Amino acid sequence: MGSLLPTPTSPLPLNLPHLPHLPHPPHPPHPPHPHREMTYRFKFRPYRRRFVRSLNTNHGEWDIRDGIILRLDDQAGGIGAGEIAPISWFGSETMEQALDFCRQLPTEITEETIFAIPDELPACQFGFESALEKMGSGEWGDAGTRGGGDAVKEFDMSVHPSISVSSFSGLLSAGEVALEQWESLWQQGYRTFKWKIGVYAIAIELKIFELLTHSLPASAKLRLDANGGLSYDEANLWLWTCDNLKANPEISLEIEFIEQPLPVDQLEGMLELSMFYGTAIALDESVATLGQLVNCYEQGWRGIFVIKPGIIGSPSQLRQFWQQHQIDTVFSSVFETAIGREAALKLATELSLHNRAVGFGVNHFFAEEETWLQNLWNNL
Ligand SMILES: [Mg+2]
Repeated sequence: MGSLLPTPTSPLPLNLPHLPHLPHPPHPPHPPHPHREMTYRFKFRPYRRRFVRSLNTNHGEWDIRDGIILRLDDQAGGIGAGEIAPISWFGSETMEQALDFCRQLPTEITEETIFAIPDELPACQFGFESALEKMGSGEWGDAGTRGGGDAVKEFDMSVHPSISVSSFSGLLSAGEVALEQWESLWQQGYRTFKWKIGVYAIAIELKIFELLTHSLPASAKLRLDANGGLSYDEANLWLWTCDNLKANPEISLEIEFIEQPLPVDQLEGMLELSMFYGTAIALDESVATLGQLVNCYEQGWRGIFVIKPGIIGSPSQLRQFWQQHQIDTVFSSVFETAIGREAALKLATELSLHNRAVGFGVNHFFAEEETWLQNLWNNL
């Protein structure tokens, strides 16, 4: 495919310094927006993208990514683009609910409209607020943000140039196919890998795991993502195995964490396991939206939080929470376009303490013309 999503085989362009390097110092408190009374012309357009191979999810096969691109124009010629990319089976609103929300809005909206989007529409909260931020910051490039330049220049189609491929985690499929996949990702520059577990029988996966840990280079990092598919006993065995690996002097590969070992309704079990083992646990499905995240924090979770900005909800509320609690975060994609991705990576650079790789290494999931997003935008 083209340059819509990162193409790690080609050198990354270095001419678009929109965002600071990772890691970023803590962001100052969000200043009150100076344009409270400002009205914005609002337009939106739905899109559909087909995955090259359908994705296996806990909720069946996922073939098509539906989303919405939205555009805000202010009276001074400023333009802001945003993306709504729901994943309802992960905890966000449905595409239909997002579309209904956009359809019932007037063509002129205010900031009050945006900050009043209910928590039941987290992907909408993210899309609208990030469009607004874009407009306020003028970070979508100098050409065009003010004074009616070429609107296409508003967004950069490539991966953010200041983030190198080694800052992304490469996704490895479940089962033994991972043994063949990692090498080409390594050659593309990936150093952190995420392998799906909890799909096949644990005895088989543990065998593959042993082969994988012996074949991955010593400087690689490996994350295991169970998508809530393990029993308590299985999670126990995986964590025990990872702790043993850490104690093995022959292996210097780092197991960074096990992601969502147990289902969402078993936080208690994960809290318990997180105290027994040295290997870290990250919550993902349990913290899909900000409300869930706050809830897990309040129930005592101090491990890692996987944040999918596209569906987490309000970026400003997330910032506020992070500034208060400095939680350990990992950022991850919802298979959004360059528009949502840029806003998501901006949050990732602001709200990361431990310089963990971001889970946006998903370019090999779409194959399509690089022009479609530009065309869509031009017709907005
Ligand atoms: Mg996950």
